[in-house]
Amino acid sequence: MTESTKPVPSSTDASGPFWAGCAAGVLNLRHCPSCNISYAPTRQLCSCGNAQLSWVEASGRGTIFSYTVVHRAPDPAFKADLPYVIAIVELEEGARLLSDIGGCPADKVCIGMAVRAICQEVAPGIGVHRFEVI
Ligand SMILES: [Zn+2]
Repeated sequence: MTESTKPVPSSTDASGPFWAGCAAGVLNLRHCPSCNISYAPTRQLCSCGNAQLSWVEASGRGTIFSYTVVHRAPDPAFKADLPYVIAIVELEEGARLLSDIGGCPADKVCIGMAVRAICQEVAPGIGVHRFEVI
């Protein structure tokens, strides 16, 4: 029997600065300098049509905008984590990110809770962000 392991993210040209930030413990967001709006790292185009988005360092602070509690693991590698929370976190900068939530039992999480980003090394030189209730 082979043991399942959690997937490790891989960087692309478009997401490189985000993953480099994760490895360094920094949460980088896309930003439109014309509109002063920050977006999730996957965003390639501002609502104004600007495709020249820059990268900015986020505070890492936000609140839970919405969430769900996962009771059935999508892969055996996640079974030991059950039950766990997957949430949409709204950052102070306005961007919304999908993340798991730590630092609080799944049945105590609620919308509006304050969270902060933490970085976890998941493989040598590869970090991922998750959010923790503060
Ligand atoms: Zn814009």
